[in-house]
Amino acid sequence: MLAETWSGKEGSGVQGPEFFDEGELVAVLTTQPLDRFLDYKAPEGGCVEGAFVEVPLGPRRVLGVVWGKGEGGFDINRIRPVNRVLDVAPMGDDMKAFLTRAADYTLTPLHAMLRLATRAPGLSDPPSMRKVYRLDEGEPDRQTDARRRVLETLHEYGGLAFTMGELSEMAGVTNSVIKGLVKQGVVREEDTPRDLPFPRLDPDYGGKALTEEQAVGAQALKAGVRSGRYGTTLLRGVTGSGKTEVYLEAVAECLRMGRQALVLLPEIALTAEFLTRVEARFGARPAEWHSGVTMTERRRTWKMVGQGDAQLVVGARSALFLPYRDLGLIVVDEEHDTSYKQEDGVLYNARDMAVLRASLCDARVVLASATPSLESWANAEAGKYDRLELTARYGAAVLPEMRAIDMRVEDLPRDRWISPTLKAAVDRRILAGEQSLLFINRRGYAPVTICRACGHQVGCDHCDARMVEHRFLKRLVCHQCGETKPMPEACPSCEVEGKLAPVGPGVERLAEEAGKLWPEARLAVLSSDLFGSARALKEGIETIAAGGADIIIGTQLVAKGHNFPLLTLVGVIDADLGLQGSDLRAAERTFQLMRQVAGRAGRAEKPGVAMLQSYQPEHPVIRAILAGDELGFWKAEAGERRHAGVPPYGRMAGIILSGGDVSQVFDLGNALARNAGMLRAIGAEVYGPAPAPIARVRGRHRVRLLVKADKGAPLQAALAEWVGQFRLKGDLRLAVDIDPQSFY
Ligand code: ADP
Ligand code: ZN
Repeated sequence: MLAETWSGKEGSGVQGPEFFDEGELVAVLTTQPLDRFLDYKAPEGGCVEGAFVEVPLGPRRVLGVVWGKGEGGFDINRIRPVNRVLDVAPMGDDMKAFLTRAADYTLTPLHAMLRLATRAPGLSDPPSMRKVYRLDEGEPDRQTDARRRVLETLHEYGGLAFTMGELSEMAGVTNSVIKGLVKQGVVREEDTPRDLPFPRLDPDYGGKALTEEQAVGAQALKAGVRSGRYGTTLLRGVTGSGKTEVYLEAVAECLRMGRQALVLLPEIALTAEFLTRVEARFGARPAEWHSGVTMTERRRTWKMVGQGDAQLVVGARSALFLPYRDLGLIVVDEEHDTSYKQEDGVLYNARDMAVLRASLCDARVVLASATPSLESWANAEAGKYDRLELTARYGAAVLPEMRAIDMRVEDLPRDRWISPTLKAAVDRRILAGEQSLLFINRRGYAPVTICRACGHQVGCDHCDARMVEHRFLKRLVCHQCGETKPMPEACPSCEVEGKLAPVGPGVERLAEEAGKLWPEARLAVLSSDLFGSARALKEGIETIAAGGADIIIGTQLVAKGHNFPLLTLVGVIDADLGLQGSDLRAAERTFQLMRQVAGRAGRAEKPGVAMLQSYQPEHPVIRAILAGDELGFWKAEAGERRHAGVPPYGRMAGIILSGGDVSQVFDLGNALARNAGMLRAIGAEVYGPAPAPIARVRGRHRVRLLVKADKGAPLQAALAEWVGQFRLKGDLRLAVDIDPQSFY
């Protein structure tokens, strides 16, 4: 298989991609920032359309894809030949169509889409053998710091292989440390082909007996997969109802058909748990694609996906841009999760891109969630998506009862956040040997540090944001740019010493309060920044699930998918927190988050209770959460959005301008606003320019414009024409965010 080369003509009778003989003109798309294809001559032996190639560009050699026939029109003698065809599967027509359509939709240049689709190292390297290193059985004769780091690194990636360079860099040791461990049989050195196929998955290995409701859902999804035609299904089911079990049956069916499947997860922390489930279901591990896998493994996955030797990929949103040979199913788990929106670089929403990708390759999409996004809900209502519901939790588990704690009548001293009512409920759980979760959606110790002498609030030097105290790290951290500094002794403004004081609670401060209230209890704090690595986090979660804590104190991290069987009480410290912003999705997000967090309680035999501390328990969103009236909530929310003409009933695009000089940024914003005739012509409205809610990030000033249009309006074409009028000078940047999810 590895020796197979991709440059030759397909021998079969079926219509293959177009073939270009040596010397014929081909148009090549490169990953370089150029706004056109480049013409080259096909190399010796010719090449197919879609072939990945290396081409000369000035003095360099760059990666590209043969997109089609060359334009001609230049002096043919000056056109250079393609250097060589790379030893990877050529890009299929569906992938080319996907990149083109995704580029058009997100107003991203095609070369940037190609870069997204080739984010694996060493694609141009020839196939060869190389040495890799992985964990062996032996024990070192004596332990040193350097050796321990090597072993920790190997353990952290759970048995994956590393190259020497990768391992020495990640462990921070010299090559000789690793060679020493090889000699002692602690680390194994292997010769392998650079990239190996993934083990075959067996669709009939370990299926579970499904409940009747689950079986109905699984049958419907399987029938969809068998149809071999595009379709999207919204799989809604309360947490713990077995959505995962059901969609794994669709994955099995897809594998039986000989097609590839992709499961997208919103959070890397969830993959370990999920991979174990896949292994139990299919007898082998799938390919992984996210920021936590080694570069070696990344390249292997990319290549094997392309040649059909990875049947199932589990990954983060960018796994959509892998070169699948025959993709038959995409599952988007927790489809409402905001992390599916990429907020950096190419701005895209993986949920929408999954639907686009599937529609171009006759694949099915399953969107799974206990609390679907309003977008998906509306598409199902409109009949664009099929709908499946799982109404009951699996086994004896029942949904938690929801109650509000009215904070206006609770007797709570200053700088305390756990009400007497919530405390009493936790006391009862401790007596009964059950777990409680106290939830607060704020990392760090305190969101604000104020000077009691002059009232100054400590801010970031580079952003218009307050620094958040992280006592665990003993530092102040800017949650916008990541800048940190030690906690100052004196106020940076009035220079009075010893007057800086924390205001408001974060997860660390809540843990401190809990420690005082329950000095005997075992506390576990779960916040993404408190764990050094994905492995440490995974171990922490496993320990808690096994009963290693009485009280869990956590941020957003605990809301997603983890299973704690002994947990019977969830206390939400500040249920009002998300309702404050002016964001159009504030209500939807709060509703989803509260339902998800509450869903952590009572997942096993014992029923659970969720208690929401609120200063406004009569707020319609809080009332809908308590009543569990999801349909009512979505309808009311849909009604308001329809009335306001905002997504999903209207279209929006955000324009973010940034630069070092604030007046230049505003000048550009004003020029855009003045020259928006093409937008007005399609009935769109332009708002702004206005300073962005966070008007300065990393020292750059940020200005926003907002474009609103009717649902059917041809927004992208008009936007492209609009922003295309301006050449950006100096350090000015312009980014277009179609369907913006956040307005920071
Ligand atoms: P969801 O994805 O809807 O939150 P899961 O698929 O994770 O639900 O199921 C919740 C728990 O119940 C899991 O531990 C799962 O293995 C178990 N479970 C669900 N359905 C079945 C079944 N039919 N047989 C055995 N265990 C099941
Ligand atoms: Zn900052």
